[in-house]
Amino acid sequence: MSPGEKNLYLTFDDGPVPGPTEFVLDELARAKAKSTFFCIGDNVRKHPEVYQRIIQEGHAVGNHTFNHLSGWKTPVDAYVDNVALCDREMKREGKQPAKLFRPPYGRITRRQIGRLSEYRIVMWDVLTNDYAKSLSREACLRGSLAATRPGSIIVFHDSLKAEKNMSYVLPRFLDHFGSQGFSFKALP
Ligand SMILES: [Zn+2]
Repeated sequence: MSPGEKNLYLTFDDGPVPGPTEFVLDELARAKAKSTFFCIGDNVRKHPEVYQRIIQEGHAVGNHTFNHLSGWKTPVDAYVDNVALCDREMKREGKQPAKLFRPPYGRITRRQIGRLSEYRIVMWDVLTNDYAKSLSREACLRGSLAATRPGSIIVFHDSLKAEKNMSYVLPRFLDHFGSQGFSFKALP
């Protein structure tokens, strides 16, 4: 996003999941931060009350397919159908103002992009690697802080797999950039 303002765009992929997503929401509220959650449709179906909390607390939501499919391994029609299934699940739980889509693993083909023209496809410039079990919490924090610039879009995961690193890094990340006068915004 624009590097001219001190705004950061946190994103959380793979929820909603009771536990990690609730932790993230508590931390964002504490820091007066807004962010964007790229939800897996099947998790919205399983945990509608957690999804509702995301919406009620004023965060943005985006589509991350229903079954976390890799675009490179999935035929175009099946991929587009899976995105639509996630969209239906999110709509059932309340209206979705922005049509944002993030391809799982960042893997999507040109033909798939062509078929999803109603969406804004959102990648990232900072990958925290919070899901990497071999990465220490301190190294995860150091790498995330060092890679972030004004206007960065940062990927965290509100998943059980990432919980160890994410729950350590997120509060410190918010405090670090918050004390430098940065604002945390949802994607428009
Ligand atoms: Zn994902």
